[in-house]
Amino acid sequence: MTEVNLGGLTRDFGRLVSRTPHRVVRPSSAGEIAALIKDAGAGKLGDVVARGCGHSSRGESLTDGTALDMRGMATVYQIAGDQAVVDAGATWREVLEATLSRGRMPPVLTDYLDLTVGGTLSAAGIGGASHIHGTQAANVIELEAVTTTGEIVTCSSLHHSQLFDTLRSGMGRHGVITKVALRLIAAPKRVLSCRASYSSAAELIAAQDSIAADHISGQVKPSGFELKAVVYGASRPPQGLVPIDVEELPFEEFADRMRPDVEELIELGEWDNPHPWGMVIVPAPRAATFIDATMDETAPADIGLSGVILIKRFVPGHVPMLRAPSDAVLFALLRTASPGCSTAAEMSMANDRLYDRALRIGGVPYPPRPYRALRI
Ligand SMILES: Cc1cc2nc3c(=O)[nH]c(=O)nc-3n(C[C@H](O)[C@H](O)[C@H](O)COP(=O)(O)OP(=O)(O)OC[C@H]3O[C@@H](n4cnc5c(N)ncnc54)[C@H](O)[C@@H]3O)c2cc1C
Repeated sequence: MTEVNLGGLTRDFGRLVSRTPHRVVRPSSAGEIAALIKDAGAGKLGDVVARGCGHSSRGESLTDGTALDMRGMATVYQIAGDQAVVDAGATWREVLEATLSRGRMPPVLTDYLDLTVGGTLSAAGIGGASHIHGTQAANVIELEAVTTTGEIVTCSSLHHSQLFDTLRSGMGRHGVITKVALRLIAAPKRVLSCRASYSSAAELIAAQDSIAADHISGQVKPSGFELKAVVYGASRPPQGLVPIDVEELPFEEFADRMRPDVEELIELGEWDNPHPWGMVIVPAPRAATFIDATMDETAPADIGLSGVILIKRFVPGHVPMLRAPSDAVLFALLRTASPGCSTAAEMSMANDRLYDRALRIGGVPYPPRPYRALRI
């Protein structure tokens, strides 16, 4: 196990919370993590916090205790048929590169690929294909993890299923995921990406339900409500869609579509500004009214210069720790506290109001709050 310098491990993508770990280690095996947790004493996992890419935004990957830099465990071991076995510290970019070389892909990819497998499975991992396949956490076949008492356990829906259900969407508080067997599907070579415009949140959500596409997502734009519907290997837009534009592109370019935007945000300095992201999962039948009420009290300055507002219809799959309604809509206010806009504190207060209102209609925050105990 390598002991490493603090580096950037005092902050996360949110830039709202800062913690200085007492110690940072980069483990290279589950055995090393088990020894470290045993040394810390049973039940001390709270002080030992796993960190993937640190792209969560409310300090979830930060600690004053021992930080485990999981990027030291990033091997893609095996891709065979419908399954890949990978280290939890591998990024989705690394997994996709390896699986595409065999014509396969994970069924659900996040919009941004530079997130670790362990990091998004600890949240859930909601992507453009989650209306068909569920969350990334619902597409795991088997996990290897180090438990809070330092045991190395392999679990699945059939073996040690309670641990399996606690680790997925568990935000790292119930064990450290070390190795993952992921489900794979056939990957397309090219995709047809279509954009369409709607005049209300209700219409956008209804379109996400009725249009047959492999990837579907929505955004609130200054001009209205925009749908992106992407069909793998198609040459014509899906039936019932009236697109405002259509683009055919290689699948790799589509999967890595955020990279140019991220490079621009880094260049502009926006990437380093605070990101008080407010994300909730609400029941689909109540989503449009909820979104309308939130948008009525949200000005452009409350989102920031590079902020984005997402609306994504999806099915969670069997992921108990997520506690999402089965008929779900992700509503995400991806705020950036840009200079001249609302402050990070004002944006965080608006998020608190968003969470309270969501809870009242049967919604939940996303990523899940780790302190809520599992009842199964
Ligand atoms: C630009 C951007 C785009 C995003 N797009 C999406 C998206 O499309 N869909 C989506 O669902 N989310 C998205 N997210 C949010 C992202 O999924 C979560 O923030 C995710 O947890 C980040 O992964 P990470 O590797 O950075 O994890 P970290 O931020 O490092 O960790 C997140 C949590 O997981 C725990 N953890 C990390 N690794 C392990 C492990 N091996 N075992 C146990 N616990 C672990 C940490 O302790 C922490 O609680 C996005 C975030 C950003 C910044």
